[in-house]
Amino acid sequence: LNRSLAAFGTTIFAEMSALAAATGSINLGQGFPDTDGPAEIAEAAVRAIRDGRGNQYPPGPGVPELRTAITAHQQRFYGLSYDPDTEVLVTAGATEAIAASLLALLEPGDEVIALEPFYDSYAACIAMAGAVRVPLTLRAPHFRPDLDALRDAITPRTRLLLLNTPHNPTGTVLTREELAVIAELAVERDLLVVTDEVYEHLVFEGAHVPLASLPGMRERTVTISSAGKTFSFTGWKVGWITAPPALVSAVRSAKQFLTYVSSGPFQYAVAEALALPDSYFDDFRADLAAKRDLLSDGLAAAGFEVFRPQGTYFITTDVSPLGEKDGLAFCRALPGRCGVVAIPNQVFYDDKSAGATQVRWAFCKRTDVLQEAVDRLRRL
Ligand code: PMP
Ligand code: GLN
Repeated sequence: LNRSLAAFGTTIFAEMSALAAATGSINLGQGFPDTDGPAEIAEAAVRAIRDGRGNQYPPGPGVPELRTAITAHQQRFYGLSYDPDTEVLVTAGATEAIAASLLALLEPGDEVIALEPFYDSYAACIAMAGAVRVPLTLRAPHFRPDLDALRDAITPRTRLLLLNTPHNPTGTVLTREELAVIAELAVERDLLVVTDEVYEHLVFEGAHVPLASLPGMRERTVTISSAGKTFSFTGWKVGWITAPPALVSAVRSAKQFLTYVSSGPFQYAVAEALALPDSYFDDFRADLAAKRDLLSDGLAAAGFEVFRPQGTYFITTDVSPLGEKDGLAFCRALPGRCGVVAIPNQVFYDDKSAGATQVRWAFCKRTDVLQEAVDRLRRL
């Protein structure tokens, strides 16, 4: 195994989902919904397969119907205009979008400043590109970025900022004011930005502000999103980027040798999903907001310190009030103790001490499942 990858071992999501399956536990670890997305969208995928749309290699940039639907979505929700022919690339989930963007835009030795705790593929992809990650640590209890620290972290080697808002696992949603400072720094220091906005429709307080909508940012920003999160079809692996033509073209160069293309029939179905009425997006958010409250309250009642998220479908907690010293050990023991699985945030930190006792819980689950999990946790 390549030395830069060996350090990453098995992803925590695979480890914890395997533990959930082996112990028959309630899986609040890996972030995937236990209820599929809209039936008519599933039906659209079936129709595409039956009608022979996308059963053979789709076009490299993605099927035109989906590229057009992505640009219409950016226009409808954010007033952002992109050209479907030159400024959109469909990828195998956001995961490939992240990998292809970092492989395309980084050279060995380049520095990447990323919000820590980071989603686990960021660190691995930065390493695969031979680049160096420089964490900007979000700290409990507020998990806001320290923008002076960001300014200080930028060096002549800094090539790129890697953002994520709403942020997994902390649930932080960057404010317009925070993004404005980040944007100013990016312009001043001539940095590229890759921004992972897969939870764009899961904001419970405030509003999602796409970084590309800030002055000077559209031309230097690669924005990533995914149908997995917004439409609850994580297994379809349809993601995309929007960016100016030169950046799309660069990312496409990497993507063509990773998967070339993927998800043919699902691309047609996601095109239909993106055109769903506003009520779909509103109901989706309202449903998850209620689940956030149920699980936050339940975790608090069970004795955890709860950091109520502004967005995403994750809640970060601290296990110290339960007398626990280590989140990883706690998560490994939890199935045996009460039949619930969660994710230790420490694996998303370089600074392990900052996240040692944090544990993340996914609430994209049926209400009865969340209720049962809370009942079990209260007996801890
Ligand atoms: N980025 C973040 C922040 C995520 O949480 C996830 C999935 N949980 C992804 C990217 C990957 O998305 P996809 O499943 O579309 O590859
Ligand atoms: N992104 C999901 C999470 O944060 C998991 C996706 C994966 O397993 N790679 O839990």
